[in-house]
Amino acid sequence: MALIVQKYGGSSVSSPEKIKEVAKRVLEAKRKGNNIVTVVSAMGNTTDELLELAWQVNSHPPKRELDMLLSTGEIVSSALLSMALHSLGGKAAAFSGPQVGIITDEAYSKARILRIETKIIQKEIREDKIVVVAGYQGVTSQNTITTLGRGGSDTTAVALAAALGADLCEIYTDVEGVYITDPQIIPEARKLKRISYEEMLEMASLGAKVIHLRAVEMAKKYKVPLHIRSSFSQKEGTIIE
Ligand code: ADP
Ligand code: ASP
Ligand code: MG
Repeated sequence: MALIVQKYGGSSVSSPEKIKEVAKRVLEAKRKGNNIVTVVSAMGNTTDELLELAWQVNSHPPKRELDMLLSTGEIVSSALLSMALHSLGGKAAAFSGPQVGIITDEAYSKARILRIETKIIQKEIREDKIVVVAGYQGVTSQNTITTLGRGGSDTTAVALAAALGADLCEIYTDVEGVYITDPQIIPEARKLKRISYEEMLEMASLGAKVIHLRAVEMAKKYKVPLHIRSSFSQKEGTIIE
């Protein structure tokens, strides 16, 4: 039985309808006989809206409180995705980052994952559940909530895949893979079938936000194969290995 970590970005879960579509896709993978851990981002522009909200009460919001606020976006989508899975007859359980023991340093708004207490997720997998984890967040050893930097849900997914020894980490997004340049700006850009970690690192450090730089660094370090693909089509995306 393979273990697959699937990450769904903000545009893939931006409405209740899209969350239901994601739930169908997750269940399909589960019913093929895989164990599935999903990581979700906040719905659509939620993170920006939360930032805006913070600024309305304080032009310099305290970092600790800001991270606590921003982490809620991903918690909403994880709870909703788990509910959608239940309504389709799936067995699922949603967790925040702190609940699954994603331990980070104290660098608010750009925290690094130090370790993951995998026992919590492993127990759920043994009970045959689909585990839905809120991306982009963790907790310090002092029990305060942190966030991993914008785009950080990718890093949650890869870190979980590495810690759990997953066979594959799929990053579902709003484009069909990695292109030589941003396809939203240059629509005729060519899609790449396969690229190396090194090539992806270079593209991510030059600002290709299709995947978080730290996620690629971690995938390279722990040799986690990545598949970046669209959540709106069945087409094969780009393999990074
Ligand atoms: P998600 O919300 O799924 O994490 P992001 O918006 O963070 O999605 O990343 C996907 C976006 O990355 C695409 O919509 C695209 O505009 C952008 N992008 C930038 N460079 C590239 C590239 N070389 N290949 C593919 N997408 C790219
Ligand atoms: N929701 C966060 C952001 O907008 C994290 C993520 O999407 O990966 O940056
Ligand atoms: Mg992203």
